[in-house]
Formats: sequence, C-alpha cells, structure tokens
Amino acid sequence: MFPPVFSSLKVRIGLALLLFVGAGSLALVGWMRSSAESEARRVFAALATANAEFIRTQRLPVSDRTSEALGHVLGVEVELWGRAGREGRLRALAMEGARPDAAGVAVEALQTPGRVRVKGGLEAVAVPVSEEADLLMIRPAGTLAEGEGRSMWWVLGAFWVLSLGLGVVLARGVVAPLQQLAERLPRIGEDSESDLPGAERSDEIGQLARAYLRTRAQLAEERAGRARAERLAVLGRMATGLAHEIHNPLAAIRMHAQLLQDTAPEALPGAAAESLPVMLGEGARIEGLVNQWMFLARPEPPRRVGSDLGALVAVQVRVHQAAARHAGVEIELSLPGELPVCVDGRRLSQAVGNVILNAIQAMPAGGRLRIEGASGAQGVEVRFCDNGPGFSAIALERHTELFFSEKEGGMGIGLSVASEIVRAHGGSLGVANAASGGACVTLQIPHP
Ligand code: ADP
Repeated sequence: MFPPVFSSLKVRIGLALLLFVGAGSLALVGWMRSSAESEARRVFAALATANAEFIRTQRLPVSDRTSEALGHVLGVEVELWGRAGREGRLRALAMEGARPDAAGVAVEALQTPGRVRVKGGLEAVAVPVSEEADLLMIRPAGTLAEGEGRSMWWVLGAFWVLSLGLGVVLARGVVAPLQQLAERLPRIGEDSESDLPGAERSDEIGQLARAYLRTRAQLAEERAGRARAERLAVLGRMATGLAHEIHNPLAAIRMHAQLLQDTAPEALPGAAAESLPVMLGEGARIEGLVNQWMFLARPEPPRRVGSDLGALVAVQVRVHQAAARHAGVEIELSLPGELPVCVDGRRLSQAVGNVILNAIQAMPAGGRLRIEGASGAQGVEVRFCDNGPGFSAIALERHTELFFSEKEGGMGIGLSVASEIVRAHGGSLGVANAASGGACVTLQIPHP
C-alpha cells in the first residue's frame, strides 16, 4: 500500500510531524502578522488623532511647513489641507511624481475620517483639525512596530521546540517500544530476558508487552509439555516392546509350572512343591503387569458380553485373598444377588483387581476393605471403602494421571488403567475419602 520507505512507522510519524510543523508555522506567522498589522493601524489612527488635537490646541497654522515639520518628526507623509483647496491638492498629489495610489488612498481616508484605509501598498488615515482643515497621514502598508518581527521569531522558535519535544516523546514512547517488540517477537522461543520495557504501562503499548510475555510463558509451557510427552512416548514404545518380548516366554514358564503342579505333585521334592505356587503366583502378577502395559499402549474397544459384575468382583477378591491375608486385611463383600452388566470381563477384572490391590497396599499393617454393590436406575455401582489413611489431597486430584504414584516403587498406572477401562464401557470411576477416614473408590457401569 505504501512505498517501502513509508512503511516504517518512524518515517510516517516523522513526515506527519514535519507537515504539522510546516503548516503550523505558516498559520502562526499569518495570524501573528495580521494581528500585529491591525494593532499597528490602531496605533497609526491614534497617532493621527493625537496630532490633529496637538495642531488644534497649539493653533498651528494649516500650511505645508507644518506638514513637513510633522512628517519629519513622525517619519510618515503628512498632509495638512484646507477643505477649500482639497480637490486641487488631491489632483496635485496624483500628478506629483505620478502617485495615483497616494491620491486614491487619500480620497478613501478623507471619506471615512479616523479610519485607516489601505490601497495600492499604502495606508492612510485622515482626521479633521478644524471645520475647514484635515490632517492626512500616509505610509507604506504593513508597517510593523519595531520589535514585532523579533517577537514573531520567538513565538515560532517556541513552537518548533515544542514540536521537537512532541517528536521525541512519540519516538521514545511509541516507536521505540514497538521496535523493541518487533525485534524480540521473531525469537520469542529463545527469549530469556526476564522483563520487557513497557510491560508496566497501563496503555495499549503496555497491553501489547504483557500479551507478549503471556504468549512467551504459554509457549515455554507447551514446549516443556511436548518434550515430556515425547519422552513418555519413547518410554512407552520401549515398554510395549519389552512387554511383548516378556509375554510369550512368561506364558511358557507359567504353563510348565502349572503342568508340574497338576500332573505329579507327589513326585516333587518338598522344597520344589512349596516353590511351585510361589512361581505361579508371581508369574500371574507379571502377566497382569504386562497386560496393563499392552492395554495402555494399544487400548482396544471392549469385547462386551453379558455378565454378572458381582461374580466378577468375587473372583478378584479370591485372587487377592492371599495378599490380603498376608497384610492382615479383611475383605467384606456385600453384594445383592446379581449385578447384570454387559462388559469385557477380562478388562473389567483388571480394573477391579487394581482397585482391590491398591486398598490392600494402603493398609500394610492391616485393616478392613468393604465392597458393596447395588443396581440402580442409572446402572450398576460397586463401592470399595477401606479404613486406611485415605487419598492424599494431591492423589485426589491426580490419581488418573499416568505415572502418578506416591508409593515407593509404584508405577502409577493402576488407577489410570482402571479409569480408562471403566470409561471405555461408558462408566465412571470416582474417588473420595470417607468422613470417618479411609479411601472410597466407586465404580459405575451403565446398563447396556
Ligand atoms: P500405584 O499403585 O503404582 O501408586 P495407582 O495409579 O494405582 O498407582 O495409584 C495412584 C496413587 O493413588 C497411589 O500412589 C496412592 O497415592 C493413591 N491411592 C490409590 N488407591 C489408594 C487407596 N486405597 N488409599 C489411599 N491412596 C490410594
């Protein structure tokens, strides 16, 4: 839109200011000149009146000698004419050195006594001296009093200094901060300077500077988040690869241990017979972990079949009974007959198992876990309430965050997986602390 040189705000403001100074100076000079001239004319008229008065009171003769003497003293052309010979005098004036201008302005002045008339570069004023005579004073038009020109330069100088000040204020207050922002914006990502001049201002420049700082903070946060996510993605890929590698040999080990236990337990020496259940139990634990990892890495839609949630929970209680006994945790199960649901049994068992295991781990010195189920209008609900220490404030907020764990050696995937599984079934997993203390996890599955 603008030629390149005018695209700079500095140039545009500078030019606008220059135009303003030029036009302002002209207007100022015109106004001062016209007011100085009208003042000079007022003084000229007053001078003529005072001199006419002087001639009258001093009874000076109406003659060319008096005119000449007065003209000499006042430094202007003075004519003292009797009315009788006025026409002849005017004619003579017009003829004298060919001065029709003087005669013309004199005629006008004589017609309007006491008023200064301007014509042909001359100004004249006529004042009656008596019934028979007039005093006429003529001088070049636009004659200013001494000092008028000088004071005009002073005013102009002050105007220019003011304009310069305005230019400096604009340059420092608007152009400089904008320029600084424009220089820093392209490298906003690497900008580590803590402050930005102008951010403390309450005007639009301040708003712009604060918006820049806010954007920079958001950008830094997003970058950190992305870097974290990328690290996690790499870790996730590694873990999934590992989980796949572990899955098959583990299945083989478990199958052989099971075979040994099933086929000839009496043929095994005592120590080996004791080790087999431990091997099977620990193998099942590793398999659970591997399954969770694989689910996290590649969550598949649940394969739903009609089942009884109560029966599924009861199985999980049995699976974790040994661990509960070991920790001195008593599990109370209170289920009202059947809890019909349509779910992926394997997945939901995993979610329920995680919640039960968490409760047992929260009470290493023993306690009680009460599991209650109910079927309502909305769906089926199972509540797991323990009398351990309850969720910490931060765990209440971040329990579904992957890798969030407050346990020593905890992986922080149990509740994330559980809540993902429940969500995949259209349900919800809520956590809270009971008023009497202890954690309460509520699992809700809607009716099919
Ligand atoms: P992990 O068990 O590996 O720590 P989870 O995702 O299962 O990971 O649990 C996350 C956190 O939630 C736990 O570290 C713990 O702080 C809190 N938590 C879970 N269940 C309970 C519970 N029953 N009582 C108290 N805190 C719990």
